[in-house]
Amino acid sequence: MSDNKPVLLIDQDDVLAEYILGVTTAFNKKYHTQFSIEDCMSWDLCSVFGENIDTVMHEPEVFRNLIPAKNALQVFERLFHSGLFEMYIVTAANPRSVEAKYEWIAQYLPFFPQNRIIVCTHKFMIKGDYLLDDGMHNIYDFHKTGGTPIVFERPHNAHLIHDFVKVKDWLSFEKFIINACYKEKSSEYFSFEIEEAI
Ligand SMILES: [Mg+2]
Repeated sequence: MSDNKPVLLIDQDDVLAEYILGVTTAFNKKYHTQFSIEDCMSWDLCSVFGENIDTVMHEPEVFRNLIPAKNALQVFERLFHSGLFEMYIVTAANPRSVEAKYEWIAQYLPFFPQNRIIVCTHKFMIKGDYLLDDGMHNIYDFHKTGGTPIVFERPHNAHLIHDFVKVKDWLSFEKFIINACYKEKSSEYFSFEIEEAI
C-alpha cells in the first residue's frame, strides 16, 4: 500500500500489448485465412475465428511475440516514474501463457517490479481506483465494485454504447488520468514531457 496515491490497474492484452493482432496473425499463418483485426468485433474470439482459435490463443509463443501498443511503453513508463500513482498490471491468463506474459513485461517494461503483476481473471476482486481495460465484462464488474473503469477502445468495444470514460490510445489515457487525479499538476507534468521530448 502506498500513501494515498491513486491506484491504477492496467490490463495487458490489447491495452499494453497488441494481442488481437498477434492472434490474428498467428491464426492466419496456421490456417491460411485472411482475418483482420477489424473482423474482431466481439471479445469472444471463438465467435470470430471458430473453435480452432483454441489452438492459437493460449500459445506462449504468441504472447512472447506481441508488439507493444502504440505509445504504451512510453506513457506507462512516464506515469510509473512520475511517482504520482501506484500501478499494477492485472491480466487474465491461461496457465500455459503466464510465463510468457511475465517475460513480455520483463522485456518491454524492465523497470516494472514483478510483484506488481497480478494474474487474475476476476479483476473486480482487485482493489484499485482506476482500471484501464478493453474487456467490457471487466469494465462493468469493476464499476459495480465502486472503482472507475476506463475503456480502452478496440474494434470489439468501439461500437458499444455506454457511459464509461473511454480512451482511444495511450496519450489520451495519460491526459485523462493526469487531469482526473492531478489537475493542479497537469501543466507541470506535461511541460516536463515536452522538454524531455525535445
Ligand atoms: Mg484485454
